[in-house]
Amino acid sequence: RIVYVNGEYLPEEEATVSVFDRGFLFADGVYEVTSVLGGKLIDFDGHFQRLKRSLAELDMPAPAAMDDLLEIHRELVARNEIEDGLVYLQVTRGAPADRDFAYPGEDVAPTLVLFTQSKPGLADSPAARAGIKVISIDDIRWGRRDIKTVQLLYPSMGKMMAKKAGADDAWMVEDGFVTEGTSNNAYIVKGKKIITRNLGNEILHGITRAAVLRFAREAQMEVEERPFTIEEAKGADEAFFTSASAFVMPVVSIDGVMLGDGTPGQLTKRLREIYLDESRKTAS
Ligand code: PMP
Repeated sequence: RIVYVNGEYLPEEEATVSVFDRGFLFADGVYEVTSVLGGKLIDFDGHFQRLKRSLAELDMPAPAAMDDLLEIHRELVARNEIEDGLVYLQVTRGAPADRDFAYPGEDVAPTLVLFTQSKPGLADSPAARAGIKVISIDDIRWGRRDIKTVQLLYPSMGKMMAKKAGADDAWMVEDGFVTEGTSNNAYIVKGKKIITRNLGNEILHGITRAAVLRFAREAQMEVEERPFTIEEAKGADEAFFTSASAFVMPVVSIDGVMLGDGTPGQLTKRLREIYLDESRKTAS
């Protein structure tokens, strides 16, 4: 596999980052994941805009190659012959000469790393056909979840807790209300209404979320952006989550409580089709 690191395309075995990199020592970095379908990037502009916002919120210098990011994405997709898969991008606050909590000066350039992951048949996963099971866990993350940082230890722990409980993923709950999934935004459907938490510092502003809500409204579906409790979710007709890599993913049980007949809901399935159709149309 060919990866990109600080201006160079290299075989992954030859790509290196300093042990003093602040991403490694302080989780001082942000990232983006963009899907590739049919060799094309899904919603690159959305991911680019959110990356700029994450960098600005953390006073992190933009990598020099900011204007070239689209081209680097395309180059990696081409060089690695990615038909379906992902492009992962990470920017960290670089590698100062020594470990220090204070941010380094302007002489330290940010570290920019990108790599691809090939996932044949990404849009047609068995999980999407069967639906997935989630458990609920306490949301004990920090207060700026709207910034897409690489601090992913608690989400990793959440996935392990889910696995241990015989489930696939976890939804996080704060003060009784669902915030989001470990790596996705959470939704329930009641009757014909789609309900998802409103934006704020408590959740990541999903790029897939923004697109799905736009397509839903365009298709005359009813959307309500408000917090919902885990109890309300367990009594919902349908549930699903969204993320760049899972698109619209049906959820069929929460903490062992089956939703509907335990298979993906009709509205969820329709929304998944709409999302895939529409986002393919504007893929770049
Ligand atoms: N919330 C969290 C915590 C996430 O990690 C992700 C995926 N990175 C999402 C939501 C979904 O965001 P997107 O649709 O932009 O992938």
